[in-house]
Amino acid sequence: MFADVILPVPFETFTYAVPREMQEQVVEGSRVLVQLGKTKTYAGVVLRLHTQQPEGVQIKPIIQVLDAQPIVTQSQFRFWQWIASYYLSPLGDVYKAAFPGILKKAPTGSTKLNSRKKNQAEQAQTLTGDRREPLSQLNETQQKAYDAIWQTWQEKDITLLHGVTSSGKTEIYIHLIEQHIRQGKQVLYLLPEIALTTQITERLRRAFGNRLGVYHSKFTDKERAEVYQQQLTDHPYDLILGVRSSVFLPFQRLGLVIVDEEHETSYKQQDPAPRYHARSAAIMLAQQSRAKTLLGTATPSIETYHLAQQGRYGYVPLTQRFANMQLPQIEVIDIKRLRFQKRMKGAFSPRLLEAIDQALQQQEQVILFQNRRGFSSFVQCKQCGWVPRCQHCDVSLTYHKKMNNLSCHYCGKVYPLPPHCPECGNKDFGSIGTGTEKIEEQIQKHFPQARVSRMDLDTAKTRAAYEKIIDGFAHFESDILIGTQMVSKGLDFDNVSVVGILDADTMLNIPDFRSYERSFQTLAQVAGRAGRKNRVGKVILQTRSADAPIIHHVVSNDYPAMYQEQMQERQLFHYPPFHRIIYVYLRHRDNQLLQHLADQMANTLRQSFGDRVLGPDRPPVSRVQSMHIRKIIIKIENSASPAAVRAALIQAQKHILSIPVAANLNVYYDVDPQ
Ligand code: ADP
Ligand code: ZN
Ligand code: ZN
Repeated sequence: MFADVILPVPFETFTYAVPREMQEQVVEGSRVLVQLGKTKTYAGVVLRLHTQQPEGVQIKPIIQVLDAQPIVTQSQFRFWQWIASYYLSPLGDVYKAAFPGILKKAPTGSTKLNSRKKNQAEQAQTLTGDRREPLSQLNETQQKAYDAIWQTWQEKDITLLHGVTSSGKTEIYIHLIEQHIRQGKQVLYLLPEIALTTQITERLRRAFGNRLGVYHSKFTDKERAEVYQQQLTDHPYDLILGVRSSVFLPFQRLGLVIVDEEHETSYKQQDPAPRYHARSAAIMLAQQSRAKTLLGTATPSIETYHLAQQGRYGYVPLTQRFANMQLPQIEVIDIKRLRFQKRMKGAFSPRLLEAIDQALQQQEQVILFQNRRGFSSFVQCKQCGWVPRCQHCDVSLTYHKKMNNLSCHYCGKVYPLPPHCPECGNKDFGSIGTGTEKIEEQIQKHFPQARVSRMDLDTAKTRAAYEKIIDGFAHFESDILIGTQMVSKGLDFDNVSVVGILDADTMLNIPDFRSYERSFQTLAQVAGRAGRKNRVGKVILQTRSADAPIIHHVVSNDYPAMYQEQMQERQLFHYPPFHRIIYVYLRHRDNQLLQHLADQMANTLRQSFGDRVLGPDRPPVSRVQSMHIRKIIIKIENSASPAAVRAALIQAQKHILSIPVAANLNVYYDVDPQ
């Protein structure tokens, strides 16, 4: 007998012989200890048992069987295989992503078969029982939305709940979860970031007690392995709250997947492979389990909204905030004009300073938002705000300090830095952006008495540091919170009356076709932090593009208008949701050889895809760990068959790797990059 085994290395499977004495023990889905190469041993997972002797290779025997029962179910394998093929990533990489570390480690010493013990949760259950609080009553609009969601599920598997901030989406999720558990179903509740899990965990714990399992990387490996194994027992958690990796947990009777804040980019895994999008993966997982999916957000991704518009997804809007709270008022301040009139005080307009002053006098709090790309490397005319853009891609160009030139992130075209601004003739191009630190200095100068806290990648490196800042602000230990994107995420503060957006343009000019969509989402979410509980909040939005349609859409909270406008551009420039994008990356130590191979790869791809192939291009970070990188972009019509596209890519990859000098070339993909 032979076993095809998945190992935690970037390949598909390896075949091993099953020694006679192990043939009774080994099952598909169980882990086995095997040797790879001369010295290494790994714990792998048996994908398939069979009797076909592989030809021409020496087959090693399995050293040891590690599990008496499968720890990967057949439906998980189906899911793994979907991830592997859709994201063009070997099964070995999927295995690495799917398992908590210790389940992948080769055991040392012990020869006992792994059998499951009662874990902490079960013990807790028997000790403390199941303490739970009754659910709060949904109000009329929430109840209507709740009913509408069930209604859409009669015909559709996936529904978008498009509810403004604080409309009670989470409250509705809780009622849906309750109903599914009542019907004997399991629920997976996905959040984009660990930082958000704390607040939600408390709410879910109150409603569902120890039927709730929490799963993310801030738990120890051991704790995660326990949750994983618990899911295989006769008493799995009814509800799992987790970040993207929890799509890899085993479920036995999954009935519902909730993807909260579905628009968030952190659902996409960047590195390492598999570079999967947890929203797409969750939808596939639900489909394979015949479960329903609910996508929830105040600011849908254009892709999701598009599918809802087309009727492919159910659509349930929720336009009222809970307890008739008002949406904040947004005032736009034209800082281009103010700069011209020399009336700006550093990063602050007189109006924003006045609003902050007023808030402080009334013992209210202030959030100041500065985009994290504040320091980033694009160029803008200091006088008129002109930003150089690519002729072919409609994105702003990235400035390369070392070469003192501009390049397009998407098509790779390089432009010289113009000697003066073509709009106004000014010669002063600084790479602009004010960091949060500078903002802090300035604010202290204006308001020496104010207690200021700052949250950015420097001050909130760890989860504990992050929580301390948030908690401190929530308990009014500081008056002003300065932060980047981190402050925009689903946080609930009672006493914030003013939100200042210091420079909306840094977002708008990010060289990415999604920058307008993202800006709308971020600005709407940041604005949503103002006046959540007690009063109408005030948002002061400073921008050099006061007349840009996107700013009007944000002010009037007009998602459909933003959507319509973006859809026209997306169609014109062949972007999602009309086209799918795949990045092909090539890596090699030898830069010249790499260029040659990348050109050749692009040419081969052009034979299948024609002018849908762009590049090769040097990505913004073009050397990592002394490996040079090239990037080829493929834009494919949505109507094209994904299987055919994959086949052509794999074919081209085989071809390039068969060239003798390409022996050490590394090829990998990013499908649906974010
Ligand atoms: P969203 O998820 O849409 O931002 P939440 O569910 O967090 O909204 O609700 C916002 C606030 O209003 C929360 O503090 C929540 O506890 C409260 N809330 C919403 N709906 C209800 C309800 N039906 N009963 C009691 N409180 C509610
Ligand atoms: Zn200018
Ligand atoms: Zn371009």
